[in-house]
Order: sequence, then structure tokens, then C-alpha cells
Amino acid sequence: MLLSLTNHGPNASDLGYLLHKHPANVHTSTLAFGEATVFYPDSPEEECTAVLLVEINPIDLVRSKGARQANWALGQYVNDRPFVASSFLSTAISRVFGTALNGTCQKHPELVDQELDLTAHLPAFPAPGGQAQLERLFAPLGYKITCQATPLDPNFPDWGESHYHDLTLRKTCTLQSLLQHLFVLIPVFDRQKHYWVGQEEIEKLLSKGEDWLQDHPERDWIVTRYLKFQRGLTRQALAQLAPETDDSEAEEEPEVEKKISLHSLRLDRVTDIVKSLTPASVLDLGCGEGKLLYRLLKNTSIPKITGMDVDSRSLEIAQERLITRPRGKYDKRLTLIQGSLIYRDARLAGHDIATLVEVIEHLDPPRLEALSRVVFECARPSHIIVTTPNIEYNVLFEGMNPGQLRHRDHRFEWTRAEFETWAHKVAKTHNYQVTFEPLGEEHPDHGAPSQIAHFSR
Ligand code: SAH
Repeated sequence: MLLSLTNHGPNASDLGYLLHKHPANVHTSTLAFGEATVFYPDSPEEECTAVLLVEINPIDLVRSKGARQANWALGQYVNDRPFVASSFLSTAISRVFGTALNGTCQKHPELVDQELDLTAHLPAFPAPGGQAQLERLFAPLGYKITCQATPLDPNFPDWGESHYHDLTLRKTCTLQSLLQHLFVLIPVFDRQKHYWVGQEEIEKLLSKGEDWLQDHPERDWIVTRYLKFQRGLTRQALAQLAPETDDSEAEEEPEVEKKISLHSLRLDRVTDIVKSLTPASVLDLGCGEGKLLYRLLKNTSIPKITGMDVDSRSLEIAQERLITRPRGKYDKRLTLIQGSLIYRDARLAGHDIATLVEVIEHLDPPRLEALSRVVFECARPSHIIVTTPNIEYNVLFEGMNPGQLRHRDHRFEWTRAEFETWAHKVAKTHNYQVTFEPLGEEHPDHGAPSQIAHFSR
């Protein structure tokens, strides 16, 4: 079985550093079930291809219990295991490209986070659901997919196509994320894991799926198949991916906004603004379950990030997602604190930026005065980013009744003018400048669905 990885320039041969395999050599490793070889076929200068060839030992295969093809007498001897992309290939990826899969590169650590124009080619990829199934799984991850079903037998075209596909995936991303996607999704498609699936499979799945699985539209399907339909394990993994929000206060996103992915847009925009200011420290006030914190940790190298919320359940979820599960990945940069925005708090002082994403509308209007003092006077960062819904836009949301607010915990929602009046007053009182920015697609009469105020001093 083969997997080819191509880096389409510039500096295409950096692939060798990332894979920890010199392009001039042939690298052979012995695996429990056979042999893996990595080599670089003659590649033109502007691109670099590394091929992983996995050869399974047929004797071991016959003896191994997991690989036995039970429903056919000769299945042990005549089967697709030697050539089809399967859990054998995933295991080989983790053994042979382990450093790249785990995001380390000793010689050039700066390459790990670099987005490269990459292609993965798998000439025998099993997809019983055909191209549509491949699209459903890979397209949400941003891949451009090219695939061609292989005929069952080219000599007998009437027999039709097999479920094996010649698959090419292309995406600009880090090599680590490409390898993580393949590591998890190959056995999901193939389903015949060659080893016993136990508790440690959850660990593997969660660590390799950490950055993407939670938001994948086919998440449950992927988890179920990765864990070979073992109900207990599947339930456990799903619970860890999306901790149950039995406390309804922990539900942060208004349902109506989900249809236009407004919250993601908002979090991405705030992340971009924060990043462009290159701060040394950021304070996310009313951080909730830590969605903005996650983006800041992942997409920036800001060394000091603090999340604060009044709600302990939300903080527990943030703790689980950002500290407990990623084990050591973010805990040096991240601090979570519990506190209320209406009481002065010395821990809030000394930060470059404070963000309040969809927080002010959760406070009763008379409390806003206290919040302004705590944030603008006591914390007093150089920049403060505040977002809040634009109530004028609500008429455009399907299924909202007149006068209804977007979330049951919202105490108010403002028009653009109301928000600007409040912001100008606060800015003047505390000596800040303020600018405004619409968020989401603007309607000529009702404006954008959400709004941002950027205060600076
Ligand atoms: N900023 C997050 C969460 C928004 S929901 C996000 O964008 O995803 C509003 C959050 O504000 C909730 O987590 C709620 O617990 C928090 N909150 C409400 N009143 C607060 C207060 N007085 N002090 C601190 N946090 C508060």
C-alpha cells in the first residue's frame, strides 16, 4: 500500500526536514506486521514527493486474528489487506512519520506551523459510499478532492466499479494537520482495524482529532467507526469531545445565529484584530467555554492569555477543553479565573488587550456602569474590544417573534445607535478613542447582524 505526500514549493524539499527523512536516502523500518519504506522518487525542483510504501507480511496476516476475513473460506489468503489504505497504513504513519504527526521538527521547528501547499495521494482508498462519501468527510476539512473509482476488473467492464478509489487530496495546511486527518480517517473508511480496539483508542482519537473533530459535521459517524461501533467507547469519546451542557447557562450561542455561523465569524474577526495588535497579554472577559481562548491559543503566539467568567460550569468546560485534554499544550500560556465583571479585581490589571465578546448584553443595564469602571478604569488595558448583537437585524432571522431577543439570558439588545451612544460615553469618561465595525453581512436597512467597538487609549 502506498501513500504519496507532495509539497508544491516554494522550498518544497522542506518536506524532508518535516518528515525527518532525508530526500537523498531510502529509509526502511520494521513494523509488527511488515515493513515500511520511505523514498523520494525523482521529483522536479518545484515540488517534492515522499512516498510511504507499506508491505505487509502475508504469513503474519494469516496468523493475525484481527485480519482474518471470516466470511469467506479463502479470505485469509485472498484479500485486499496488502494494498488497500487501512489501519495498517495509519499505524505506519504514526511509526514512520511520528515526529511530523505530533508536530515536532528538531532542525527547523519553525516549519511545524507553516502552511504548505500539500497533496496526499492514495491509490487504493476504500469508500463504499463513493465520491459523495469522500466529499462528506474531507470537504469540511477544506480539501480539494480528486477521485476515480477503480473497476472491479478492467477486463470485464460490465462488472462495474469496485469501492476502491484512486484518491488525491490537496490543501494548504500544516503537514501535521494533513497527517492527523489521514491517521484518523483512513481506518474510519476501511473499518477493519487490525488490532483490538480498547480504551487507548479514545486517547489516540482525541489527541489526533483535537483541532478539528469537534466541529466536523460527521463527527459522530467518524467516532463511531473509528471505535469500531463499540458503544461504551463511542459514548465516552463523544462525551469528551462535547462535554454535556446539563446546566443550560453553559449554552452560549443563540440558536438563530447558528444558521449564519455568526459566532464563528465573530470569534475569527476578534482573533484577527487581537493578532494584528501583537499584544504580550490578553484578557478574555466573560470567556464562557473558551471558544475565543482556543482560537487565540491556536492561531497566535501571545504568551499570556487569561480567561475570566462568573460561571463555574463554563470554566470547567474551558478547563477540560484547553488544559486537561490537550495535556501541557497550552497550560503555560493560559490562566482561567473565576470572577465577576461588576466587582473590582486586581487580577485584571496589567494586560494589553481585553475582549468582551457577547458579554455586555448578559448584564442588567444598571450594572453596565459598574462593568465599565471595572474594565476601563481598573483593568485599563491599551485596547478593549466589545461585541454585541445589533437588534435591528433581528427581523431578518427566521422564526424569531417580534420583540424576542436572540438568547434567553440576554437582558437587552441594542440598535447600532444605542451601542454607539453607550460606547462614546464610556470612551469619553475613561479617556479612550473608539471606532466601530459591522460584523457579518450588512443589510441596507437593518445593518449587520452584530457589531464591534474597538476602544484604544
Ligand atoms: N465570550 C464567550 C461567551 C459569551 S456568553 C463567547 O463569545 O463564546 C456570555 C458570558 O458572559 C457567559 O459565559 C456568562 O457566564 C458571562 N458573564 C455574564 N455575566 C458576567 C459577569 N458579571 N462577570 C463575568 N462573566 C459574566
